Amino acid sequence: MTPPALQAHLAAELQRIRDADLYRVRRVIDGGHGAQIRVNGQTCINFCSNDYLGLASDPRLAEAARAALAHGTGSGASALISGYNREHQRLEETLADFLGVPRVLLFSTGWAANLGVLRGLLGRDDTIVADELNHASLIDGGRLSGARYERVPHRDAAAFGDVLSRLTPHASRLTLVVTDSVFSMDGDVAPLPELAALSARRGAALMVDDAHGFGVLGPTGRGALEACAAHADIRTGTLGKAAGAAGAFVAGDEDLIEYLVQRARSFVFSTAQPPAVAAAARRGVEILRDEPEHRQQLFDNIRRFRDGAAALDIPLGDSQTPIQPLVLGDAARALAVSQRLFEQGYWVAAIRPPTVPRGTSRLRITLTTAHRPEQIDALLEALAHAWRTD
Ligand SMILES: *Cc1c(COP(=O)(O)O)cnc(C)c1O
Repeated sequence: MTPPALQAHLAAELQRIRDADLYRVRRVIDGGHGAQIRVNGQTCINFCSNDYLGLASDPRLAEAARAALAHGTGSGASALISGYNREHQRLEETLADFLGVPRVLLFSTGWAANLGVLRGLLGRDDTIVADELNHASLIDGGRLSGARYERVPHRDAAAFGDVLSRLTPHASRLTLVVTDSVFSMDGDVAPLPELAALSARRGAALMVDDAHGFGVLGPTGRGALEACAAHADIRTGTLGKAAGAAGAFVAGDEDLIEYLVQRARSFVFSTAQPPAVAAAARRGVEILRDEPEHRQQLFDNIRRFRDGAAALDIPLGDSQTPIQPLVLGDAARALAVSQRLFEQGYWVAAIRPPTVPRGTSRLRITLTTAHRPEQIDALLEALAHAWRTD
């Protein structure tokens, strides 16, 4: 039986979350996770997935996984024991070659990669200088490391410069500037060239989480750093978004990767991903590398959506990426608008605190290659009515 103290705690917390309109529930999807999905027996169009290139339901990824599955499912151990499969090695080499970096190390998730790097690299004598809207995994990894944590106003390069210049030389062993490339709830992009220059000038290292840039941004899809021709010492990315599979990577120099193999606890003490997942991810990376037309279609879709929204006076921000938030304010309103859209066959999740700051609850609309023009137009039509009422 649950102890009364635990029972009372859980009930009180759940009620508090409900009262604040912050209660979250999952909807079950039957079948594939493409642009058109089945939820509770209903067909609807998904406008909140991170499958930016539509690769999650590409049969070629499934085929690559199926071929690897002929040998079985699990890897059976961490990569350092006996879990490191040829499929993992091939994926690492494909990624390193594509990104033009010396080495890449696979992790089972982006969350694990960020935690592994920060906790593995930094300790009490070190300093993190971080954008205030960084992803939760970067915040948790930073906290877990015990390093001094300097939180900087969003995308404010001058403020990064101020913090870095205030740090007295030698007071900190390592200083790491840490930022998302594309911010996951706003779709805006960090000032990467400025941060790279500032870091270099102050002897700090730069870590960029390119979860939403990898496969999407840059002339050849290498990501946000390619798009602005900037260098980062440490780059993380997930294979669960544009690459259409799962898993994640850290990219960097030889010594960085060798160090993480020794010290990143989320790598050392975690079972290697199933080889079939690595096979699917590698196929995804090959496709996004070799078929730029998917990226072209994605940006055509983004343009269509933004032009349509402007014509209908729907106030989007200035994001030029697939992430197009419509900020509505309080959580109840965001939920109501999301629900109304869902009833009309459009799934756009309401994003509420603590994922975004209080008072900035929003619809986080994402465009993908798989959306057809008429689906985008129909969403705009529904949105034009839904966001005003309420
Ligand atoms: C999704 C995301 C992650 C986590 O990646 P997973 O592979 O889903 O664990 C990390 N950072 C950012 C910015 C993300 O958006």
